Amino acid sequence: MTKILGIIGGGQLGMMLTEAAKKMSEYISDVIVLDPTKNCPAAKVGARQIVADFKDKNAIVELSLQSDIITYEIESGNSEVLESISSGVTINPAPATLRIIQDKYLQKKFLRENNLPVPDFVEIGSLDDAIKNIKSFGYPVMLKARRDAYDGRGNFKIENLGEVKQAFEQFNGRPLMLEKVVDFQMEVSVIAARNTKGQIVTYPVVENIHEDNILKITIAPARVNKKISEEAESIAKKTMEVLHGAGVFGIEMFVTKDDKVLINEIAPRVHNSGHHTLQSSLTSQFEQHLRAILGLDLGKTDLLHHTVMCNILGPKGFQGKYKTITIDQNVGVYLKMYQKDEVKPQRKMGHFNIVDINDTKDIQMLLRKAEEIKSLIKFIPA
Ligand code: ATP
Ligand code: MG
Repeated sequence: MTKILGIIGGGQLGMMLTEAAKKMSEYISDVIVLDPTKNCPAAKVGARQIVADFKDKNAIVELSLQSDIITYEIESGNSEVLESISSGVTINPAPATLRIIQDKYLQKKFLRENNLPVPDFVEIGSLDDAIKNIKSFGYPVMLKARRDAYDGRGNFKIENLGEVKQAFEQFNGRPLMLEKVVDFQMEVSVIAARNTKGQIVTYPVVENIHEDNILKITIAPARVNKKISEEAESIAKKTMEVLHGAGVFGIEMFVTKDDKVLINEIAPRVHNSGHHTLQSSLTSQFEQHLRAILGLDLGKTDLLHHTVMCNILGPKGFQGKYKTITIDQNVGVYLKMYQKDEVKPQRKMGHFNIVDINDTKDIQMLLRKAEEIKSLIKFIPA
């Protein structure tokens, strides 16, 4: 029997989930997304859309009435409303898992209680609290909003005592946590999946390069030794064992200068650092997520070719409508634009994958090619 899939969020992740769903028509007959932006990316590839805020209770209930199975592309959905829905619709990952993950403090506490490695952190209730704890952590230190943060917008790196008050005030009463700054040699992540039957798989660990707190490049596989890659994959597996609920999860980690692996955060959803799987793997993370929540056997996760993924962000000085972006056909280059109506500075507009189809395993060459392709992509006002 086919199912109707509901997705909270219809941005690029919802779009690529919708595209994967359309290829699985023997299991999924229709996709409905809930998203506040009219004609969101997922709607452009054939999802039906309920236009409403992600946290809108009535809209979530409406989505649950129209769907057989609900999932999400963002972690800021209303977990309380989701937890209260009991009307025959399956929600995965479980709302209780979402509730823990969407609060960075509860998430880290949960990981630490399960003996998973995380940087030192503490909950912060007041400015005095912050000053006291910073003394024991030392500078620099990271003040983080516990909820509703993305692309680093909820983080403030405090370099000295003079900045503490300013950092605290900037968050304007939002619940906060404090975290030690990790002097990392590299940021890596593992995309992992768990299906409703409890089967767990992981994709090979990848390397992530951020700029201005936003993911810029993912290199698959990460340039780390075997011991580190095995450690990262084992941490990811263990994380999946302790988290309930099915689906794909993106597990972001730091590799410290002394080769330790610490979890930075978990995304309970498909993840930007997994976009390479669209071409580098037999099963993309999007198909894998659907297989996981439908209770199908999980697909293969081997990396077929080294791949570099490059995000296409809105240029800093331009906002508005833009001309369609295309590039000439180029072997091993896969451009994916998200069809967003307007470009904004630093907005994720698309990505491309550079696939090492000749299996040179020459990552420097792939990175150079990525720079070349990037220089061809220009946003021109429409
Ligand atoms: P995103 O949406 O990009 O995943 P986010 O807003 O949820 O991000 P984090 O993942 O907590 O924020 O942080 C964004 C980036 O800031 C990290 O990828 C890392 O580069 C840096 N960062 C965060 N916490 C720390 C830390 N404790 N030590 C060092 N760097 C950190
Ligand atoms: Mg992050």
